[in-house]
Amino acid sequence: MRKLFNKSMRGKGLALTAGATLCAMLIAPLPAVAQQKFVSIGTGGVTGVYYAAGGAICRLVNKDRAQHGVRCSVESTGGSVFNVNTIKAGELDLGVVQSDVAYNAYNGDGQFSDAGEFKKLRSVFSLHPEPFTVVTRKEANIKEFSDLKGKRFNVGNPGSGTRASMEQLLAEMKTDLSFFSLASELRPDEHGQALCDGKIDGFFYGVGHPSANIQDPTTTCGAQLVSLTGEAPDALVAEFPYYANVTIPGAYTPTILMKPTPMVYWLLLSHQKMLPMNWYTKS
Ligand code: GLU
Repeated sequence: MRKLFNKSMRGKGLALTAGATLCAMLIAPLPAVAQQKFVSIGTGGVTGVYYAAGGAICRLVNKDRAQHGVRCSVESTGGSVFNVNTIKAGELDLGVVQSDVAYNAYNGDGQFSDAGEFKKLRSVFSLHPEPFTVVTRKEANIKEFSDLKGKRFNVGNPGSGTRASMEQLLAEMKTDLSFFSLASELRPDEHGQALCDGKIDGFFYGVGHPSANIQDPTTTCGAQLVSLTGEAPDALVAEFPYYANVTIPGAYTPTILMKPTPMVYWLLLSHQKMLPMNWYTKS
């Protein structure tokens, strides 16, 4: 299958460039627009990177509101799948979505096979890679993902891209949520505390790095990152255009050498009808 995404991690300048791009698009003078326009960006949990990045984008946009008349606000949401569905329903102007979820939504694949294709879904820009991050309790002694069989694991809240990707990984492993003794559905702002309280043995999060959400349990209770390696992750990267491999920076757990792990890309999406010519005027 054709690879749509560059298989190497992009440089640090990407975030700045992409942020500046949206800003440039929005601050391009809007001809004959007198009234104020409200734009909302659906993100993810309040402790995630989507929420922070959405906030930064809106700050850039709102700084020049007098020029372009656009007032940008962010909403905390359940994550990627929720954002696509809400864009489709016309209740969100823009939404941050993982590239795997975006691909499936556009093509009516995977979790969108009942909903069907959403060919009016548009990508505005991409910001950063989101490695599949597996964090485990120190005492659980997890060395690799397969050690989580029969353990209590947080698979992500319904509506999140994290959860959608976990289900795809389990399917590739020819198993399902019963792989774990408990597959909890906590939100990202709950999973770190649950891990440190010993209520779960690990959690999964498709998130950009560095992330305070991951940093917190590593510093608070010595939680450890586990590389997601093996036949199933390799097969996913080989088979699907929206996955690539990346090595999570070792800053969280200097004693563990992280191995390449599958990642998706952060994408800002919108409905085609939200992208009239004037959004891009003179960009
Ligand atoms: N990728 C996650 C999801 O769609 C959200 C990550 C974040 O909020 O930074 O579930």
